[in-house]
Amino acid sequence: SIKHGNRNGFNFFTKDLQSLAEKHTQVENHLKYAIERHELEVHYQPLVNAHNQIMGAEALLRWNNGQLGQVSPADFIPVAEESGLIIELGKWVLAEACKLLNRLKDLGKPDSLNYISVNVSPRQFNQPSFVQDVVRLLETYNINGNQIRIEITEGVAIDNIDLAIRKMLQLREFHIECMLDDFGSGYSSLSYLNKLPLKTIKIDRSFVSQIDASEYHQVIVNAVKDICNYSQLECIAEGVETDTELQYLQSRGISAYQGFYFHRPMPVKALLTLL
Ligand code: C2E
Ligand code: MG
Ligand code: MG
Ligand code: MG
Repeated sequence: SIKHGNRNGFNFFTKDLQSLAEKHTQVENHLKYAIERHELEVHYQPLVNAHNQIMGAEALLRWNNGQLGQVSPADFIPVAEESGLIIELGKWVLAEACKLLNRLKDLGKPDSLNYISVNVSPRQFNQPSFVQDVVRLLETYNINGNQIRIEITEGVAIDNIDLAIRKMLQLREFHIECMLDDFGSGYSSLSYLNKLPLKTIKIDRSFVSQIDASEYHQVIVNAVKDICNYSQLECIAEGVETDTELQYLQSRGISAYQGFYFHRPMPVKALLTLL
């Protein structure tokens, strides 16, 4: 509203802030009860290789509230993170992923997914009991460490990189690998990329989606690929939507993808049909 140069711009601005804060509080108040009210669901988006084979799937939280309707993770994850609710939600998602892996075993398709990757927010990752919590869940559901991957963002390494490295190494002892999500989108630092014991780098969608339009974004994608080659990291391109994007990525030797071009995130039932 300020942009419009309205005389009352300041009032509009204060109002905007106020309604933003109200929205935040409203989301938080409903989110508290989301688990017990069975409002949450996990959707899964396949990760595919160059032969269009499904390697794994990313678990993505969905929230449908009676009053607020379907709320996007972009709107409720930050609230969950700030309020601390993310810790409970994160555990719930991990448990759901383990249950699904277990179910695949029961259905006689244990190898149809190599792994499920789960997003873990900095606050959850930084919990002192995080590694222990994950390992316990794996034991409860009789799941191997290599069936779960942890997606972290650059945020976990910002505060205390040594602690992040230690935790990742602890996870690795249980064969749980970490993937760096949204690479390039945040406060990226190339200096710690080769310090973190990662398995995978996921190139942020914002670079992939501009490959066709911008040479600069092509250069960035190539640079990330070179780093991955050098450090023997797996490289996954996020947000692949078009054939031309895919062609370009393929020509550069990037052979793992996630995006609407292949599959959208889907409920368990649809995933089971697909597998
Ligand atoms: P993310 O981890 O980077 O997940 C990928 C997001 O990109 C998903 O959005 C997915 O639907 C979307 N996406 C995938 N392919 C395409 C494509 O080709 N085009 C477009 N336009 N979008 C694509 P979603 O599900 O809305 O999630 C948004 C973010 O919310 C996630 O980004 C992640 O940061 C966070 N999030 C979702 N579930 C969880 C969770 O269980 N825990 C935590 N901590 N964060 C979560
Ligand atoms: Mg992710
Ligand atoms: Mg991502
Ligand atoms: Mg993202």
